[in-house]
Amino acid sequence: MHSAATLSPQPHRACGACGATGNTVCHRQRFIVPDGYPLPAEYNVVVCRRCGFVYADPAATQRDYDRFYCEWSKYDDSATATGSGLSPYDAARLAITASDIARALPSRAASILDAGCATGGLLTALRDHGFTAVAGFDPSPRSAAACRDRGFEAYVGSISTASAPAHMPKFDCVVFSHVLEHVYDIPAFFTAARRLLAPGGYLYLETPDATRYDDYLYAPFQEFNTEHINHFSARALENTVRRFGFQPVLVEQKVIQTAEDTHYPAVFGLFRDSGGTADEHVVVCDQELPRRIAAYIRHSAEQMERINRDLASQLANTPRVILWGAGQLAMKLLALPCLAQTEVRALVDNNPILRGRTLAGAPIIGPEEMGPGKIAGTREPIIIATLLHADEISAQIRRLGLSNPVISLPHNSNSEVRRA
Ligand SMILES: [Zn+2]
Repeated sequence: MHSAATLSPQPHRACGACGATGNTVCHRQRFIVPDGYPLPAEYNVVVCRRCGFVYADPAATQRDYDRFYCEWSKYDDSATATGSGLSPYDAARLAITASDIARALPSRAASILDAGCATGGLLTALRDHGFTAVAGFDPSPRSAAACRDRGFEAYVGSISTASAPAHMPKFDCVVFSHVLEHVYDIPAFFTAARRLLAPGGYLYLETPDATRYDDYLYAPFQEFNTEHINHFSARALENTVRRFGFQPVLVEQKVIQTAEDTHYPAVFGLFRDSGGTADEHVVVCDQELPRRIAAYIRHSAEQMERINRDLASQLANTPRVILWGAGQLAMKLLALPCLAQTEVRALVDNNPILRGRTLAGAPIIGPEEMGPGKIAGTREPIIIATLLHADEISAQIRRLGLSNPVISLPHNSNSEVRRA
């Protein structure tokens, strides 16, 4: 791990929250990425020296991220994606979001656009709360069609550049839920968001709450992934919106339940467009966020080292393994010293977008390609390369009748994961 005082020599982007360029490196994150992956395989996580905002500083452009979400995104698959309102946890989460919006928006006649609407889960929850003029906006034509099937107006266009169809009206409120942490060019995002708003309109913004990553640490460095490149606190969110001429109406923290035993901290707010941009004096330095991120980095590093030690002892004299999971944790595990001397024969993943690609020189295959006489006939140990869904995967391996030895990763034990 790098020390906390390294000055970033050549920042690739300015602080999204305040616009300053001076920052301090607090972590270097590396990934082993699949072939053809549009996003950088490493970046610095930095702290803004002026406002305390924490963000990744990859050598990339907004266009790289646009391409990634266009070509590699799985969010328009309603069977696996969140935002559809299909799972009970997802439906409950969207009902809470709708109720928070209802609490802050004075009129049920207010028109609301859900930017990144997926298949219309939030639109349905808003309609249940009495909002009559709700519409969806999504880059995926399939998602927009699914919203129309549920009786909503829906538009197709890019969220990050807000390239909307010409006939699209302006809205009293635009919802960006779990969008902003993915945005590389934050000034361009706010310019685009304002284009969707009626004068004096509201933005609803919700992102993970980076001040509480350490309280909900399931997998090491989980929040430092290739997609989440901005780490907001309530204060950082306020600094950001003020910079672009929005006034906080409501800013709160919450905890989202994503599965029976999995919770996720978030921060959200409703912000009113006051036009123009703010003067420099409204930037308030966030002292807490860098401190909480430092604790998160320390505990993640400890857990990653425990995983490395545990795997190293289990893989002694094992020439080849199979990894079950080719996602964000696998991209970090492959960079660990414990796997340097072990050949990865294949990676198994349910995500159809990854099929047929290679990662660390090994093919990514579907579970159906495992079985007697196929890849798994060779009895290589299977490492379950995820912590969040390890039990489901164990059960799937048993259902498939595979007799390979199964290696699970040690769970986080150094910090008690708080239950909501
Ligand atoms: Zn800043």
